[in-house]
Amino acid sequence: MAVPKRKTSKSRKNKRRTHYKLEVPGMVTCPNCGELRKSHHVCPSCGHYDGKEVVQVDA
Ligand SMILES: [Zn+2]
Repeated sequence: MAVPKRKTSKSRKNKRRTHYKLEVPGMVTCPNCGELRKSHHVCPSCGHYDGKEVVQVDA
């Protein structure tokens, strides 16, 4: 069975793990209320999209 010849150093291990990160970028702050929302989606907290209120949200 193939076995690693050298121990993986902390540096090499940590460099490999730089690719492990939380998914779901594409979140932007709403220009109307400042809440995080998904880009190209109506804001769930204020119901605005592209500067206009498009969905009624009860406060
Ligand atoms: Zn908003």
